[in-house]
Amino acid sequence: MRREPHVIDLPKKVVVGENVIWQIPKVIQELRLGRKALIITGPNVWGLVGKAIEEMMSSSNVSYEVIKVSKPTLGEAEGLNEALNKFLPDLIIGLGGGKPIDIAKYLSANSGTPFISVPTTSSHDGIASPFASLRGGSRITSVLAKPPVAVIADLSVIASAPARVIKAGAGDLIAKFTAVLDWRLAHRLKGEYYGDYSAQLALLSAKHVVNYSDMISKLSLEGVRVIVEGLISSSVAMCIAGSSRPASGSEHLFSHALDSIANYPALHGEQVGLGTIMMSYLHGREWRKIKKVLKKIGLPTTAKELGVRDVDVIEALTIAHKIRTERYTILGESGLTYEAAEKLARETEVID
Ligand SMILES: [Zn+2]
Repeated sequence: MRREPHVIDLPKKVVVGENVIWQIPKVIQELRLGRKALIITGPNVWGLVGKAIEEMMSSSNVSYEVIKVSKPTLGEAEGLNEALNKFLPDLIIGLGGGKPIDIAKYLSANSGTPFISVPTTSSHDGIASPFASLRGGSRITSVLAKPPVAVIADLSVIASAPARVIKAGAGDLIAKFTAVLDWRLAHRLKGEYYGDYSAQLALLSAKHVVNYSDMISKLSLEGVRVIVEGLISSSVAMCIAGSSRPASGSEHLFSHALDSIANYPALHGEQVGLGTIMMSYLHGREWRKIKKVLKKIGLPTTAKELGVRDVDVIEALTIAHKIRTERYTILGESGLTYEAAEKLARETEVID
């Protein structure tokens, strides 16, 4: 039982649909967020939608400044504090893939300024979660921030991203199967708080991917919608749990370990998807079914497809338990031996 009060912070408005990017000024007005916006975006995204944003903002009564960021580092985020103090915005808009949204989230939490999340890709579930993941040196730091006050997910923009980027989001959703199993295990063995409602919500988004894998593999607009809605649900599950537990377990630890060994070799969702196959095996679950769904969608299921060496996968498996020692998972406190890791990767046909 949790003794302290459980406080849930949720986004107030979620807009998902085609061409909804044009609704940014309307949402700012409806939620009375003010008249000065700081837009955090990336150079490529701005090239894609900057004109539309300029057009809609100039015909609204909201003034704005644009800052383009390229690295999701703690240093880069901290460096923007000065600009924030100078401009003193009423609201921050994170416009882009992961990086601008994570940085906007961090700045918002630091300054108490509300932020709107405008994802332009569907590659991961940070789009509405209360956690900013930023790189500090070779490690990823997950900072507890506030969830966005609004999420505006334009399916026309998101669907125009490369197929690989869109599909990666399905991998991040499949990961909830093992994330929830790890959470339950930590509850049983370590007495950690476990909330079944948020766990079920996260699982629902993973099951959704399985049920709609056909649609997702064809990348139809409805398939993209399934991924985007699933990612928002998973973010909301994290808001309800007050931690990233429902969304991130041993498969995420494996992915972070692979990032540090092979220097961010593939997309986050691709890596955690592959990790889910192996962690399902350790949990004694239907890893073949996970593999089949990932294959059908067109996500990597082998080291080769992920673009890493077999030895990188094995090594990542042996150090994954050290990535976040407070996060108890199926990997245990002492992790896997090299032999056990190699056997695991071979049995699940991740390496040959
Ligand atoms: Zn993730």
